Amino acid sequence: MDQSQPIADPHAEIREEVAKLCARFPGEYWREVDRERAYPTEFVRALTEAGYLGALIPEEYGGAGLPLSAAAAILEEIHRSGGNAGACHAQMYIMGTILKHGSPEQKQRYLPGIASGELRLQAFGVTEPTSGTDTTALRTFARREGDNYVVNGQKIWTSRAEHSDLMLLLARTTPRGEVAKKTDGLSTFIVDMKAALGNGLTIRPIRTMMNHNSTEVFFDNMVVPAENLVGTEGRGFRYILDGMNAERLLIASESIGDAKWFIHKAVEYSKERVLFGRPIGQNQGVQFPIAKAYAQMRAAEALLRQGLAKFERGEPCGEEANMGKMLAADAAWAAGEACIQTHGGFGFAEEYDVERKYREARLYQVAPISTNLVLSYVGEHVLGMPRSY
Ligand SMILES: Cc1cc2nc3c(=O)[nH]c(=O)nc-3n(C[C@H](O)[C@H](O)[C@H](O)COP(=O)(O)OP(=O)(O)OC[C@H]3O[C@@H](n4cnc5c(N)ncnc54)[C@H](O)[C@@H]3O)c2cc1C
Repeated sequence: MDQSQPIADPHAEIREEVAKLCARFPGEYWREVDRERAYPTEFVRALTEAGYLGALIPEEYGGAGLPLSAAAAILEEIHRSGGNAGACHAQMYIMGTILKHGSPEQKQRYLPGIASGELRLQAFGVTEPTSGTDTTALRTFARREGDNYVVNGQKIWTSRAEHSDLMLLLARTTPRGEVAKKTDGLSTFIVDMKAALGNGLTIRPIRTMMNHNSTEVFFDNMVVPAENLVGTEGRGFRYILDGMNAERLLIASESIGDAKWFIHKAVEYSKERVLFGRPIGQNQGVQFPIAKAYAQMRAAEALLRQGLAKFERGEPCGEEANMGKMLAADAAWAAGEACIQTHGGFGFAEEYDVERKYREARLYQVAPISTNLVLSYVGEHVLGMPRSY
């Protein structure tokens, strides 16, 4: 029995169903897509058809109308089962911006298609090569021309751009030197990528240490109809910030799932592997790192659940979302370390899946926000110390 689940888990049924779906995509499947750096199309299609990627879309637009904790349970379960939701998780947190700040027409135009799987909203264009974490220094500029905006610039690390129909794009609409606050003058757009590809939009894949379908994208006089502006011009940074707590809580859930996978795998192997006449798990040197990672995971999970509950009550949850994300990523990494060490040489063999999950789990100490920036948030916004940057 998985002791990490509370007795009355409101999403137990969802977890069970997601686990059944994931069982159709075992380690061999993930190994193959990882080896080829391919997109797990069949897995994403199965998730979409089962309605999981539309979990957060209100029922009136064809979605399931579930709370964020249900989406968190779905993503956690995918990772706990040995899979990787990186191929499709963005849809869950990007959509919040359209839900919260989109016009009724935009919601009507996009949400039913996203819920049915006909439209994929998987690309999120924020990070740029020269600005990185310093988001408000981004240079991509959208200039208003009549009924359109004309976009020029570049994004980097735009994951899933080749596998998405739509991109949520953050661009400057007023130069940084002309706004009172650097967070002003940024706007959010819905980009129809299929129409733009070859018409001002170029996508170049970036090969990374794990399979994340990341790309860099270039905008060269790309035309975006003004009706695709989300909310009010100049307020885009706030809209993106609004969605960030949801993003952090969801990514933290994936890290919790990773930690559970590593811990389970390490425990099982430590009981099976017999050396010096006894299972290696009988040695405290093997047991303790696994037990410690388990304790770290449970603490992170408790904080994450507090964050999810606050989010769903509409209360500020920046503290829990940021710290939960950092601690969950740390717990996953500690569990990954314990798991690979417990497996000895076999931890490095592809067929055990440990090395793949180990590579995948590392990302979440850097993206979507790095550990240093979480600590800066805690130092400044939670503890009231001077802003460090
Ligand atoms: C595989 C992958 C997928 C991604 N997907 C997307 C995506 O879909 N869309 C998107 O927009 N972005 C995406 N990102 C980008 C990701 O959000 C950034 O990599 C991350 O925010 C860090 O930015 P950076 O890489 O530019 O690092 P930098 O900002 O250059 O930072 C480098 C290092 O310096 C540290 N640092 C910077 N400033 C400070 C400071 N003031 N104090 C202390 N430390 C500091 C950081 O913590 C970091 O460790 C992805 C990244 C990766 C690797």
